[in-house]
Amino acid sequence: MPKPNLMVTRRPNIIIAISGVLASAILAIAVWVLAQMHDDALRRAQDSVFNVSLLVERDVSRNLEIYDLSIRTVIEGLKQPRVLQLEPSLRQMVLFDGSASAKDMGSILVIDETGYIKFDSQSVTPRHVYLADRDYFKVHRDSPNVGLYVSRPFMPRATGTDMSIGLSRRISRPDGSFGGVVVGTMRLKYFRSLFNGMNLGAGGSMALMLSDGTMLMRRPYDPKTIGINLTGTSNYSRFVAQPSGDFFGTAAIDGVERWYAFRHIDMYPLILDVALSTRDIYVGWRRRAWIIGSLIGALDLTLIALAVLFAQQMRRRLLAEEELHRLARTDGLTGVDNRRTFEEAAEKEWRRAQRNGGPLAMLLIDVDSFKGFNDLYGHSAGDDALIAVAHCITHNVRRPGDTAARYGGEEFAVLLPDTDEAGAICIAEKIRAAVQALALGHVASSHHVLTVSIGVATTQGEAFATSRALVNAADQALYAAKDAGRNRVVPYRTVGTGASATGRTVVVVAGH
Ligand code: GH3
Ligand code: MG
Ligand code: MG
Repeated sequence: MPKPNLMVTRRPNIIIAISGVLASAILAIAVWVLAQMHDDALRRAQDSVFNVSLLVERDVSRNLEIYDLSIRTVIEGLKQPRVLQLEPSLRQMVLFDGSASAKDMGSILVIDETGYIKFDSQSVTPRHVYLADRDYFKVHRDSPNVGLYVSRPFMPRATGTDMSIGLSRRISRPDGSFGGVVVGTMRLKYFRSLFNGMNLGAGGSMALMLSDGTMLMRRPYDPKTIGINLTGTSNYSRFVAQPSGDFFGTAAIDGVERWYAFRHIDMYPLILDVALSTRDIYVGWRRRAWIIGSLIGALDLTLIALAVLFAQQMRRRLLAEEELHRLARTDGLTGVDNRRTFEEAAEKEWRRAQRNGGPLAMLLIDVDSFKGFNDLYGHSAGDDALIAVAHCITHNVRRPGDTAARYGGEEFAVLLPDTDEAGAICIAEKIRAAVQALALGHVASSHHVLTVSIGVATTQGEAFATSRALVNAADQALYAAKDAGRNRVVPYRTVGTGASATGRTVVVVAGH
């Protein structure tokens, strides 16, 4: 059985390769789209984090500014002797403009140089509270140039509730000496409700801290985090490095990875950070990526599976076509080429030999007294004998380009390109001897075994007009071999054109 043509198996593989390229292209497009969506998700998160931080910063700085103005007003008022001489309830109204009574603002207190409350926005008769140990008191007492000071969180002694921070300014006497402090307290609840009003997703966080790293308020709220110091954490180091910025970071407090945007609040020693958790940022993207990824994966697999199925079908069909083609070209009994194939080959080789000027040899082989063999041993034994003879021929005709064919009935033909007469006679003789050596008994033959006669014709030294003429020459030589007693090889050159072969010189006579 001849090997299937390589192209037959290669073409279906091309279909699989093309579908593989297509599937890869679809996959690449999907990956690109998903990467874009991933970037978009981060960009949207950045926008929302930026907006929230801007909103909160504005609210905080506006409130601090208003509160600071109230504190300055108190300081200015204290410089007016006429104000100090006013009747207590009137002085209360003049000194404190009411901003301290706004929601989540505590009280504005004037503290004398000994640390006791002198005037109190919440009470006409000042509450008797000692505050000289507070940081906002000490800082102004020890330095005249602090300006507005934002204190660490504390629990107000006057009320005992609501953690607060203090905004304070120094009272300087005309001679520059320390005359006490004006402090406005601000409940941390204000920041908490401000933070809670922002939409940050489940894993989002916000924090307001002093520049020294002291935490004032954090969302999600945990009282334990208020007042802790963040110095030394990697996020804090980044907060202090620039006036504003953003980055991916992990919170030291809860270990959650987030996208951070931070900013220093204008003119105040405060840092605000707003962060969305990476999980929240990509949750929508991840869901979509799963859906798109699965659909594309299924599409790609289907595409490749269809291509494989199609390629299998195509390969089967091509193999069947190849087999049909082969059957159409070969002889069904002996497996050698059939006459049509031989004639095509003969025509082709003839033209090639004409072009190249090389010799072309032709053998015509006829089984001797085969009719008698059939009659004696039966048609089936005759078929087996033909198969054996074909085998003897193909066994001796092995060069690429050589063609062996069943020419008809019990006749075979062999085409030997680029072979001179001596070579062709040599091969013919080998075939003849091989058939004789089969020793298939044939009692009706004068040789007692099955034999063949072979006519040889070559273009060497002969001018044949057509390939058919070469065949006719071989045929004449074959007849001469028959006439000369069979089981022999006769070259055409010894037969002569148009002459009866009988009695001619036979170059190779064998089998006697
Ligand atoms: P010669 O030596 O002169 O060639 O004698 P021959 O008997 O071989 O001559 P002829 O051409 O008259 O006989 C050919 C015979 O070959 C006729 C036929 O019975 C037999 N034959 C042809 N084809 C086949 C075949 O396919 N199978 C079998 N078994 N016999 C075949
Ligand atoms: Mg014959
Ligand atoms: Mg014969």
